[in-house]
Amino acid sequence: MNFEYAPAPESRAIVDIKPSYGLFIDGEFVDGHGHSFKTVNPATEETLAEIAEADDADVDRAVKAARKAFRGWSRMPGKERAKYLFRIARIIQERSRELAVLESIDNGKPIKESRDVDVPIVAAHFFYHAGWADKLEHAGLGANPQPHGVAGQVIPWNFPLLMLAWKIAPALACGNTVVLKPAETTPLTALLFAEICQQADLPPGVVNIVTGAGGTGQALVSHPDVDKVAFTGSTDVGKAIARAIAGTDKKATLELGGKAANILFDDAPIDQAVEGIVSGIFFNQGHVCCAGSRLLLQESVADEVMAKLKRRMGTLRIGDPLDKNTDIGAINSAEQLARIRALAEIGEDEGAERWSPPCELPSSGFWFPPTVFTGVSQAHRIAREEIFGPVLSVLTFRTPAEAVEKANNTPYGLSAGVWTEKGSRILFMADRLKAGVVWANTFNKFDPASPFGGYKESGYGREGGRQGLASYLKAGA
Ligand code: NAD
Repeated sequence: MNFEYAPAPESRAIVDIKPSYGLFIDGEFVDGHGHSFKTVNPATEETLAEIAEADDADVDRAVKAARKAFRGWSRMPGKERAKYLFRIARIIQERSRELAVLESIDNGKPIKESRDVDVPIVAAHFFYHAGWADKLEHAGLGANPQPHGVAGQVIPWNFPLLMLAWKIAPALACGNTVVLKPAETTPLTALLFAEICQQADLPPGVVNIVTGAGGTGQALVSHPDVDKVAFTGSTDVGKAIARAIAGTDKKATLELGGKAANILFDDAPIDQAVEGIVSGIFFNQGHVCCAGSRLLLQESVADEVMAKLKRRMGTLRIGDPLDKNTDIGAINSAEQLARIRALAEIGEDEGAERWSPPCELPSSGFWFPPTVFTGVSQAHRIAREEIFGPVLSVLTFRTPAEAVEKANNTPYGLSAGVWTEKGSRILFMADRLKAGVVWANTFNKFDPASPFGGYKESGYGREGGRQGLASYLKAGA
């Protein structure tokens, strides 16, 4: 049964949201020249703030500021650059509650995730890369590796601050300067990060934040003075960016979509696996590129797993993102909600069986219940397309070879999960799964020392670890 919990809301008094925000260029907040836009709280539809839009001239100004700052920043000894990164990491820890609350308000994710997952990993990324800044000659890229120059970085809305950290920390450690564009629905933590750069006395122009939508992103990645493009987002936009920069000298990393298989064998510890299935697809409302959105169950245990999974789904709490008991928060935007609804309806039309536990959804804001589809075939669109929401598609298999075949039958290749008691089977599967990350008896675990990235339509390049540094450095002599 589902126990009634008294509400345990985190106070939002710690955040100070201004009525309007400018762009952060050359160490200062300045007006933008595009049409300003609003960012809303997806749990209530309340307007939070008016955000400046950077037009082409604003983007040019930000790139010029980054270029000007590059000279000093790239020549600064690594141990000096490290001090700034350590300082930023410590300020993130000191202001972690503020960052977590603001992230949950602007994104809709549960506070227990922004507080216990996003923000700690953000700080960890800055600490980890601070450690690299004076050791780059040991990165395996030659004795004297050099930064590329100005990095143009574009990120999505699902992990606004975490994606910022994945982009900015390695770029700065390696001596590059940055112009970053956050997603249009979640700009607030990037703008708070700009204040943290001021607080850390980061030299002006080393980090610039330009807000806006796709047009601003397009202006940034195609700016002729951007040397390195780093993009995280959808495969369609990733392809458009690859086309836009084709034939130029720009370096690029693209972290795109996924449709990961979470594969459960009959010898797996079923209760733990059910927890892994739940966190694999319902963590962050399923707005996770590496979400375990295709569950592959060995036929002999499928009924048992489905019964336990449904029972567990019935205990998930959906509602106020700032309530510390909440497991599933709000969908980030009306557009994303419409996309999830449309694909779920297609799943039913195609003949799969849809199930959600009884749950009451709040009357305002954007919400979707945790949902599972059984009777899914590989041809179904819900088995092939990224839904990017709390929707799980379940398929079955009989042999390990069939599991490999089905897991790899996707245009994506970002992540996979394997649940089994046998170490040899884990290695057998990991060898054959075409995915950048394979988790064994766990799911959705992230560490700054561990490279993350995809195959096929999930993109190219790696973020994190020594491999991630390679995208921000030219091999030296
Ligand atoms: P999106 O591609 O629509 O937008 C991502 C960012 O690109 C936003 O900042 C957007 O303003 C910008 N943008 C849009 N059009 C652009 C253009 N033509 N040129 C340059 N920039 C442009 O994606 P989204 O809906 O915000 O995010 C969801 C997608 O991101 C999912 O497909 C998800 O799998 C993917 N994602 C991937 C990873 C990863 O590491 N592989 C991580 C998180 C999210």
